[in-house]
Amino acid sequence: MINVAIDGPAGAGKSTVARAAAKKLGYIYVDTGALYRAVGVNALRNKIETTDAEKVGASLADITVELKFVQGVQHVFLNGDDVSEEIRLPEASMAASNVSAIPAVRAFLFDLQRDIAAKNDCIMDGRDIGTVVLPDAQVKIFLTADDEERAMRRYKELKEKGSEVTFKEVLDDLRIRDYNDSHREIAPLKPAEDSVMINTTGMTLEESINAVIKAVKEKIA
Ligand code: C5P
Repeated sequence: MINVAIDGPAGAGKSTVARAAAKKLGYIYVDTGALYRAVGVNALRNKIETTDAEKVGASLADITVELKFVQGVQHVFLNGDDVSEEIRLPEASMAASNVSAIPAVRAFLFDLQRDIAAKNDCIMDGRDIGTVVLPDAQVKIFLTADDEERAMRRYKELKEKGSEVTFKEVLDDLRIRDYNDSHREIAPLKPAEDSVMINTTGMTLEESINAVIKAVKEKIA
């Protein structure tokens, strides 16, 4: 199977770029952030403090998280409920960032990610895919962009969905998540040694997609 790992900070455009590149290459696209978001949503639903490692860890015994692909589109299920929309709420982002620092949560989601990659040609995006989940991926990409540009993209996306957030809130949130993701003890966000760096600041979406496809083709040619 061909496995392409794409890691990078929040809002770098990983999901949009990876989804489009996967479609062009005929691979499935796996968004692993959705898994951490589902665990975060479960904590929010049950009023569990998302930074409480013990309580969040204990909650894992009662939940199932699954990914299903409907016509190539990923849906995430929490206890059988399709939570693909709910996990995109801004509060789910911070909840995901918090629960993702808990080792038991990462262990809980590990096999699920490995199984999908073992059975499918895929582009998998996340924070630790090239470093931890798929260290043997044939292609590893670290996709990034300046934080103000990333925040602006996320802000526009949220606005389009009718959200009331301000740019500053989005930027502050993103900086906190960047800090959390790259400073946590377990599986911190960092480029794998053998990754190709792509900085999409100032690039159009089309250019970013092409840069990813080029990197994939160069590695697997
Ligand atoms: O990519 P997305 O923004 O949906 O991810 C939500 C959160 O899940 C991130 O802020 C990060 O803390 C966590 N995450 C992770 N490892 C991954 C994917 C996401 O820790 N492979």
